[in-house]
Amino acid sequence: MTIKTRFAPSPTGYLHVGGARTALFSWLYARRHGGQFVLRIEDTDLERSTEESVNAILEGMEWLGLDYDEGPFYQTKRFDRYNEVIDHLLESGHAYRCTCSKDRLDTLRAEQMANKQKPRYDGHCRDRDIDPSEPHVVRFRNPQDGDVVINDLIRGDIVVSNNELDDLIIRRTDGSPTYNLSVVVDDHDMGITHVVRGDDHINNTPRQINMAVAMGWPVPAFGHVPMILGDDGARLSKRHGAVSVMQYKDDGYLPEALLNYLVRLGWSHGDQELFTREQMIELFDLDAVNRAPSAFNTEKLVWVNQQYIKGADPARLAVLVGEFLANDHVDVSTGPDLAAVIEAQRERAGTLVELATLCHFYYQDYDAIDPAATKKAFKGEPDVALTAVRNKLEALQDWQREPIHQCVADTVEELGVGFGKVAMPLRVAVTGGAPSPDLDLTVFLVGKQATLRRIDKALAYIKEQA
Ligand code: GLU
Repeated sequence: MTIKTRFAPSPTGYLHVGGARTALFSWLYARRHGGQFVLRIEDTDLERSTEESVNAILEGMEWLGLDYDEGPFYQTKRFDRYNEVIDHLLESGHAYRCTCSKDRLDTLRAEQMANKQKPRYDGHCRDRDIDPSEPHVVRFRNPQDGDVVINDLIRGDIVVSNNELDDLIIRRTDGSPTYNLSVVVDDHDMGITHVVRGDDHINNTPRQINMAVAMGWPVPAFGHVPMILGDDGARLSKRHGAVSVMQYKDDGYLPEALLNYLVRLGWSHGDQELFTREQMIELFDLDAVNRAPSAFNTEKLVWVNQQYIKGADPARLAVLVGEFLANDHVDVSTGPDLAAVIEAQRERAGTLVELATLCHFYYQDYDAIDPAATKKAFKGEPDVALTAVRNKLEALQDWQREPIHQCVADTVEELGVGFGKVAMPLRVAVTGGAPSPDLDLTVFLVGKQATLRRIDKALAYIKEQA
């Protein structure tokens, strides 16, 4: 059997991390088993669905590299097919027309609540032969006896008694089919063998199984993925900061890092934390998905991102960081090679936004030296050291790391001071106090002109302070 899974988002907002993780698990399950993955847009809620949201979902999937073999299918294009199935269910007696008024249903509900019963439809119209010309809804005739068993691939067997389930509406008065019906039709028509979705749908599953059985269709396997919690234990939501997938892009996360973080959120393979795409596909399975909800931890995401930043191709990072720098109005065209700067600075960055900030001083003179940095670095006679090293650097023809290092070493020897007495003020003069790599590399990358200019700036600052 070829495995076929799907991701079926409702386009009522952006693609959030919970949805992305569900999509990832579904996608991985298909890829792991050499199967197929379908994208279906469940846009039947005409009031809440937007094209903008569809685009955000498609964009998020693409950014994460969750490619699909079929789709996107749109439910709004399939109303005729849903109605065909509803008519079939009516003809076969698995569905019936209902004319119960809102008032009647409200009264029923109030009575049931008062008697501490679960509110449910009482089957009033089950055996009434209602004429199709009367305004009506169509309800599914749920079996009244027996149990429905879900062999959940994550949670194990779940048994629900049919007398817990009422006859749900499958077509509204305006003729539009409802969510539970369209999902069943689509999963069947699209040949879905495994439904991997959020556990917020677990109450729908027995009803959907009953409808598939009524149609004589095979019932797919189910895997309900537990939800994601925020660090305060509540369900992850907008309150917890960035939850839209594309927001993570804007905040400087690499897609492979977010994907890696998401796969570990509720799934594990021993103690391993980092997985390439290929490894995820090779190792993933639903039985290793945790049944308990997982808590989102931004610190860990930053750590994962940092590992990927350290390992990424500098040329690729240069393109991505270049965009952040352009947003910051930093012109990199006249400065050092951005890929080289990134290699020098990336160990210190948790995100690309941080990395971009760490690159600023290579391209722009600082406005003011960080006074905290000068405290230690400018002790003693920094002006003497800076003037001496400046003269040597100015005379230097071959602007390379080794000769730059030699200038510093010669100055140290000439002045008869410790290495730090020259190196520390020079570093602060060149960087303004920003975090930086080896001194010779820093000076080399900043370049001769900028180095001399900044030393002068530091000398002026020292004079002012004196
Ligand atoms: N459209 C549903 C949602 O976005 C998912 C339905 C399903 O996966 O069966 O919550």
